[in-house]
Amino acid sequence: MLRSSRRRTTEIFKSTLASRRSLNSHSSSVPFPEKLAFAFDIDGVLKQGHHNVLPQAKRVLQLLSGSDGRLSKPIPFLLITNGGGVPDEERRAALSSELGVQLGPDQLVQSHTPLRDYVKKYQEKPVLVIGGAGESCRRVAESYGLKHAYIPQDIIKWRPAIWDRTQLTKGEESFAKTVDFSQIPLSAVFVMHDTHDWGRDIMLILDTLSAKDGILGTRRENRDDQGEVELVLSNADVEWRSDWPISRLGQGAFRLSLEAVYKATTGLQLPYKQFGKPFKATYDFSELSLRRYLSSVGRNPDVPLNVYMVGDNPASDIAGANAHGWSSILVRTGVFRDPNGEVPEHEPTVIADDVEKGVEWAIRRETGLIL
Ligand SMILES: [Mg+2]
Repeated sequence: MLRSSRRRTTEIFKSTLASRRSLNSHSSSVPFPEKLAFAFDIDGVLKQGHHNVLPQAKRVLQLLSGSDGRLSKPIPFLLITNGGGVPDEERRAALSSELGVQLGPDQLVQSHTPLRDYVKKYQEKPVLVIGGAGESCRRVAESYGLKHAYIPQDIIKWRPAIWDRTQLTKGEESFAKTVDFSQIPLSAVFVMHDTHDWGRDIMLILDTLSAKDGILGTRRENRDDQGEVELVLSNADVEWRSDWPISRLGQGAFRLSLEAVYKATTGLQLPYKQFGKPFKATYDFSELSLRRYLSSVGRNPDVPLNVYMVGDNPASDIAGANAHGWSSILVRTGVFRDPNGEVPEHEPTVIADDVEKGVEWAIRRETGLIL
């Protein structure tokens, strides 16, 4: 149940389907909803855990992509996740296979995907890339055109004493580059995914942000400025749900730790730029992606869009959608379970039991049709 003060503004869609009709320009007098588009979170909406794709999700994506024949043409959609650590093309191929629908290049936004446009100014400059397994985030950075992307293992290989708590494994030895960092002016640090070694990576980020001209092993004398090296993070989620039954610490928790250590050692606030949901940069990029998608399928990319964000996390998916002027659908298949009938602080346009009911509600809202 909803708290009464919120009851008037939040609609709940739980009904079973009364009838099935086709939203098809040939068989219905209802105009096609040209402005309608969807943005889906993945974890807790389309999937539960690493491998379990919800059957409702497959049906919804088949409907929207037009492959089940109920629509005369596709309704545009994309997936926006705070996950990452894998090059977009690889993740897109894996998700297409899992979800049973072919995703186009503009239909997936991982936490670091907006950096594809943002990092253009760093293409020729040396940067440090943090996070992910092995050198996966180096491959992400290179896929965005960064020609000189270095990772912590490269630095450890150069001078093991810079962090002598961790030895390189044989696997890391094989991909760590041989580089003389005393000659490399690092110009930015990109945290692109959860890091596997917080101690090492906090130390190396502190070293880089405090260095003179980005040269490791040096220190700037004037520490009351905002620094010469930009720090960018891709995901602010403090907690996330893995296959373990209790929430796990995410990249947001790493940033909190880094902020505390930076403050304690320099007396300064950590300067950084944040991407990922619920931040504006990610929603701006996602809306641009929807328009790129429309253009790629020969439709008008400049049409006004009514975007519905479907998510399970009020503080991330719903907060970001509301702030961006999108409609929002909060589902009960992930973080938000609504056990006490409470409406979250970031109130959605509607609460639905799952992604399929949410999408059907939105189509009904836009067209009056019950699918
Ligand atoms: Mg989620």
